[in-house]
Amino acid sequence: MILKTPPLLRRGFYQGAGEIHFMKKDKDMIGQKSAKDFVSSRGIYLNTGSGINLQPVDIGHKDYVGLVSADTAFWALIKKERLTEALINSSLLKEYRRKEGSFIKEMDSLRFGLRPSAVYFNPTDRCNLNCSYCYIPKELRKNGKDMSLSRLLRALEILKAYFKSTMPKGKKPQIVFHGAEPMLNKKAVFSAIDKYGDDFHFGIQTNGTLLDGEAIDFLTSRQISIGLSLDGHISKVADRLRKTWNGRGVFNEVTKVIKDLRGYRNYSVICTITKTNMASLTKIVESLHGLEVPVCMLNPVRCTMPGARSSKPPDHHLAKYYLKALDRTYALFKETGRRLVVANFANILAGIIAPAARRLMCDISPCGGGRCFFAISSSGDLFPCSEFIGLNKFKGGNIFKDNIDNVLKTRSFSLVTQRKIENIQPCSYCAIRHFCGSPCPAEAHQMNGSMEKPGAFCELYEEQVRYALRLIADGKEGPYLWDGWSKGLSTTLEITEL
Ligand code: SF4
Ligand code: SF4
Repeated sequence: MILKTPPLLRRGFYQGAGEIHFMKKDKDMIGQKSAKDFVSSRGIYLNTGSGINLQPVDIGHKDYVGLVSADTAFWALIKKERLTEALINSSLLKEYRRKEGSFIKEMDSLRFGLRPSAVYFNPTDRCNLNCSYCYIPKELRKNGKDMSLSRLLRALEILKAYFKSTMPKGKKPQIVFHGAEPMLNKKAVFSAIDKYGDDFHFGIQTNGTLLDGEAIDFLTSRQISIGLSLDGHISKVADRLRKTWNGRGVFNEVTKVIKDLRGYRNYSVICTITKTNMASLTKIVESLHGLEVPVCMLNPVRCTMPGARSSKPPDHHLAKYYLKALDRTYALFKETGRRLVVANFANILAGIIAPAARRLMCDISPCGGGRCFFAISSSGDLFPCSEFIGLNKFKGGNIFKDNIDNVLKTRSFSLVTQRKIENIQPCSYCAIRHFCGSPCPAEAHQMNGSMEKPGAFCELYEEQVRYALRLIADGKEGPYLWDGWSKGLSTTLEITEL
């Protein structure tokens, strides 16, 4: 029998190709009384009164079944024939009870106790591509404005002062230049990187089409994190939805950039999965692995905008191809000894093994938008996340006019930062709710009509979590995770006998 629990404690955050350290917040939202504190139950019986809540979860494994506490994200894998034994008066229950308080504290801290340490910065509204699933409105991408160099530098000066007052000495916040296409405002972006290199970790998320040799030298020589977008292994697949305004595909240009980046460790490739490329996912990971890409993301299309929703595949179809592609990354690792980390899946896996080891902040509720980071548009407007740029209701203020701390408290931000999975149906009784988080609030709002609705890919999350638990049951999780992912972690509870 394997029984494992979240070994804690490390705080890390991964976005694109960079890492940001979580910032703990004061205790204002932590340590409040829980509902259990008000009932007379002594909590001695499983799943009743204030007793331990553990739900069996079918993980699709021949020998093991999962046992999960939805509230604390504790889990165990139990041999099927010993499930009853595990549920009645076992040492598992006693040990779990002993540690339950620390698990709750840990999850509370992760969910409500963090402060921003990163900013997604759109230095322009414009893009030279017209991808049909983009979350930025078409008119803005076509005719929008660039932020001037002087305003960009002023914004960074304001952010520098803000983070100086909120982050511990020696920790650098991260600025990710994001899009639209940030390279359309290259002069301002590169000047900012040179001027503020000592104050921020910089990253850039780009479609890659404007990265010539000189730009690559500039970015790599300064160890800037680079995220590239590419949706296929051949132009016929990659160029279906990612095109210039004239309808020309850009596969060849982006592939050249990936070849030019060979050997650079600080970059990743984002592949947006739609119904047009999902059947090619295995070929796509083979191609990326062949190009020696260290990290990729296979991100299901965000369904915030109607254009994106029309390319959403049904979850169960997508899951079939997605899990096969994950299988293939494992086989490629076995064949070559070189891993291609699928970061969005690795994040779910890490979030199961050690909740605080997750590096992306989408798969947790509340998500990271507005509490671990925020976004700035080219006019300086502040949003909880880039995903909300274009949705005016979520504009909390402006970097040049408003105090950042006040903006973080606005209703525009709290709609996102207080979206709790406990208030969403059917998530409130879902055993894996803290491995999923029901992202994304922007999708929930635009696609399903309210923040208190689930996001777009429920069943895909179910399948990913089941897959992750199967990997753990078979001891195969290592090759799916980043090098050194467990550095700084310690095991809080590991039980191998009932
Ligand atoms: S979206 Fe689905 S898998 Fe995720 S927490 Fe809600 S019910 Fe569970
Ligand atoms: S708003 Fe959406 S994209 Fe942004 S952090 Fe939250 S879940 Fe992720």
